[in-house]
Amino acid sequence: MRKKFVFATNNAHKLEEVSAILGDKIELLSMKDIGCQADIPETADTLEGNALLKARYIYEHYHTDCFADDTGLEVEALNGAPGVYSARYAGDAHNSEANMRKLLQELEGVENRKARFRTVFALIADGKEHLFEGIVKGEIVKVRKGTSGFGYDPIFVPEGYTQTFAEMGNELKNKISHRAVATQKLCKFLK
Ligand code: IMP
Repeated sequence: MRKKFVFATNNAHKLEEVSAILGDKIELLSMKDIGCQADIPETADTLEGNALLKARYIYEHYHTDCFADDTGLEVEALNGAPGVYSARYAGDAHNSEANMRKLLQELEGVENRKARFRTVFALIADGKEHLFEGIVKGEIVKVRKGTSGFGYDPIFVPEGYTQTFAEMGNELKNKISHRAVATQKLCKFLK
């Protein structure tokens, strides 16, 4: 029988990306699939904390094996900001354009452009908690480039590449991304 896990998200892109890596031995259910309409508040001040909050919510209410993720962009010259606040860096509106504008303003005249995307997955399986981390190092460019992807993709160039995530397209991005690295670790553990 296939193992079943709830992925505490309703983001169809994430579900697709993660389920492609996990393969067909594992059945993934979304929050919608289990009838959960909660908007679980992400009130922790770390990625680990938020991922655990979401996974624990599902485990406590639905008593099922599950996992959740949280991602942030950590900029070295800004002491790791926007980090856990990446989605709401320029305010509650979750506006990627405004977030990028604010980040580029903060880095105006700053030489050190080093940054990294970090994803954390929190898994609860058989009542035990596990964390998995995926990191992609890179640099923040001065001008937005490319149109694919989402969030900060137009201003992030991963190490070893010359194009931004938004220029390289989803196929390559999804192979090398922070989420892919974390998902592969999760997958190895589950198998
Ligand atoms: P989440 O935890 O996956 O919802 O990510 C939080 C925020 O980080 C998003 O709203 C985006 O602003 C940013 N982010 C996460 N993953 C990516 C990515 O792959 N590319 C660009 N931005 C991302």
